[in-house]
Amino acid sequence: MSPRYAFAELNLDRAAHWRQDASGLLGLFESRGALTLLLTESGRVLVARQEPRLLSLPVMLLRDHFLFDQFSFLGTDAADAPWFALSLSVEQEQHWQAQFDAEALDLRSAASLLPAGDAGAAAYARALLHWQRNARFCARCGTRTVLSASGHRALCANPECAAEWFPRTDSAVISIVHDGERCLLGRQPGWPERRYSTLAGFLEPGESLEQAVRREVFEEVGVRVGACHYFASQPWPFPASIMVGFIAEAEHQPIRLSDEIVEAGWFTAAELETKVGSGELILSPRLSISRALIEHWCLKQLGREPRLDSPARS
Ligand SMILES: [Zn+2]
Repeated sequence: MSPRYAFAELNLDRAAHWRQDASGLLGLFESRGALTLLLTESGRVLVARQEPRLLSLPVMLLRDHFLFDQFSFLGTDAADAPWFALSLSVEQEQHWQAQFDAEALDLRSAASLLPAGDAGAAAYARALLHWQRNARFCARCGTRTVLSASGHRALCANPECAAEWFPRTDSAVISIVHDGERCLLGRQPGWPERRYSTLAGFLEPGESLEQAVRREVFEEVGVRVGACHYFASQPWPFPASIMVGFIAEAEHQPIRLSDEIVEAGWFTAAELETKVGSGELILSPRLSISRALIEHWCLKQLGREPRLDSPARS
């Protein structure tokens, strides 16, 4: 079954072997079917205005305006067409948007419009280009780097250092904590009133995912967690994370709030349905794995699909 949350499907085979094959890659780039995605420096993605799809342009339309080295290879699609990604400057962005009747959307908006595999490709391209912008200098010696492997590696230009840098992803855990009957949701400072979600946080050095779940939950709400089971993961390119979802069992229930969580509570699945239905409580959007964790837990509790739609706005 396809995940209901965004970015976890990809319409491409990454075909990573091509990245090391410079002449083969140039052949793909020059082939008639080669396509490219266009992204802005701020990480928005160009989407066709007329229909909800990624603007995937034939590379041949852009070859006279950009260098081969400016394109990053993403992979090949089901029809074996190679896909690339290209980052546009602000001036270029306006020109190409007008040229192809496209608009630049932030990834969350794009994900709510696009087919799931397209949203995954947009997330992949955004994360890769974001890393490239932040890998321009060697983190070891400060010398400029040169991109290689079609944008998937950065090499330090200082021959005495010659460090290699690869795209990185920051791991975060996100968990639905439950006591068998109720689940624990909280609200972070800065969130809208009544908006509740599962608890999440970044991994620390030398920490396992399960340790991170137990530490984060205890730090945020003072609840001790015992067993925790992997649920699923979601690429979260804002800018470079992966959310690793867990279902975690609470060992005791009293809540002690921290600076990170301003309100928290235990809710049965039936209470969640009632409170969400009345507007007393607002859950994360369907885009997120947080929402998928809550829906999955409620489904198990209720033995049917939970009704967790907010009341329609009048
Ligand atoms: Zn260096």
